[in-house]
Amino acid sequence: MNQLHLGTVAHLRGNPFRQSNCLEIIEDGALWIGGDGRILAVGSRTDLLPAIGSDTTVHSHDGAWLLPGLVDAHLHFPQYYTVAAANQGLLSWLEETIFPAESEFKNVGFANKAANQFVSHLLRTGVTTAAVFGSQFPDATMALFESAKHQGLRLISGLTLMDQGGPKALLNTPEAAKALSLQLMAYCRGEPLLHFALLPRFALACSPAMLTMCGELLKDNPGCYLQTHINESLEEIAAVKKLHPKSKHYLDVYDHYGLLGPNTLLIHNIHARDDELRRIAETGSAVCHCPSSNLFLGSGLFPFKRHLDADIAMALGTDVGAGLHFSVWEEAAEAYKVQQLRQYHLSPGQLLYLMTLGGARALGLGDETGNFEVGKSADFFVLQPQKSDYLTQRLNRCPDLASQLFVLMQLTNFCCIVGTYVRGVVRG
Ligand SMILES: [Zn+2]
Repeated sequence: MNQLHLGTVAHLRGNPFRQSNCLEIIEDGALWIGGDGRILAVGSRTDLLPAIGSDTTVHSHDGAWLLPGLVDAHLHFPQYYTVAAANQGLLSWLEETIFPAESEFKNVGFANKAANQFVSHLLRTGVTTAAVFGSQFPDATMALFESAKHQGLRLISGLTLMDQGGPKALLNTPEAAKALSLQLMAYCRGEPLLHFALLPRFALACSPAMLTMCGELLKDNPGCYLQTHINESLEEIAAVKKLHPKSKHYLDVYDHYGLLGPNTLLIHNIHARDDELRRIAETGSAVCHCPSSNLFLGSGLFPFKRHLDADIAMALGTDVGAGLHFSVWEEAAEAYKVQQLRQYHLSPGQLLYLMTLGGARALGLGDETGNFEVGKSADFFVLQPQKSDYLTQRLNRCPDLASQLFVLMQLTNFCCIVGTYVRGVVRG
C-alpha cells in the first residue's frame, strides 16, 4: 500500500553552503511513499491529492512539519547512562566516569536492556541514521546491532577498540579485535540497515599494532567505515605528542597507519592545524562536530569556517554521553550558538543540512537518505509544534517559513516529535 503524508514539508535540495535557494519548504505539502518504502513524489497537497489512487492511504498531520530523518553521526552506546556527569575535562572524565560505566556492559542482560532503550530513544528523537561507538564487549555490540535491526534504525557501528590506556577489562588484543570485527562485518552483510565500522577510540588508547590492524582491515574491505576521535582537548593533543614524538601532528598518527579516506569520519577536530585540514580534505575524510559535548567538557569552540574553507564534509553528532542532548535536533541549536561565538552565522537551511543531507553525505549514505528526493528511502519524522502554546503564538509572528524553521530548531526538543519513519514504516 502507498502512503500520502500531509503537513509542512521541509528539506534540502542541495548543499546550502555551496549554492543558494536549496532549502525547500512547502506549506500544505505532501510526501507520497510507495509500498517499497521509497519516495514517489514530494510537492503540494493540491497537486498530489488528485494524483493518488485507491491504493494510497492518506495520513494528515495537521499543523505538523515533515522533516527528513535525522543523522546522528557520532555517539557512544555504552555511555547511554552517563549523560550529565560533572567533570574536569576529557581525560579525567574518561577515567572517572566513562571507563567504569563502559565496564558494566560486560553483563549481557544489562547490555541487552540498554541496547533496546538506546535504539528506541534514538528513534523517538527523530533519528533514523546513527553512527555509534559500540561496546568493547562483543555480546553487547551484537545486542546493539540486533536491536537496530529489530526496531528499524539505520546503524553504523562496531566495537570500541582499545588495547592500552584504560582498565584491563576494556582492552582487546589486536588479534581478538580483528577476529571479532570480521564476524560483525559478516553479520552486517546483506542487512540493508546495518553497516560495520572500525572504531579505534583515539590515539592514546590504541597501540601501533591495533592501528596497523585497523588500516589493513579498512584497505581490504571497501564497505567498511572508520571513526575515531581527534584534536578534542589541548591536554589530549599534548599526550599524543608525547606518545608519538616522530609524528608531524595528531592526524599524522592516523595517516601513518592508513586510517584516512572517504569512509573515515574524524570526531571533534577542534584544535586542528592548517596542514591537518589540508590533509583531511586531500584524503576525502569527513569531520563530525559535537557542540554540546565540546561545551560540556570545556574542549573548545569548533572552527566551522576553517573546515568549510578547506572543503571538508561535515556532520553533526550528539556524542552522548559527553553531549547533553539525546537528539541531534537539539545539537543544531548548540552548533548555532558555538558559531555565533566565532562570529560565523549559520542559516536555518545550513543547520537543517548538517543534521540531514549533509550528515548522510558525510557518511556516504547521501544516495539513500537525507532528503525527499524521488527514489530515496522514506526516512522522516513528524514535528508537532502545537504541543506547546507558546510555540504556536511565536510561530504566528514569524515573517516566513524559514524563520519558523529556525524557531523550531531553537525552541523545540524531542518531546514535540510525534512519529519517526524509516523506509516508510513508523518506528518511533
Ligand atoms: Zn565520542
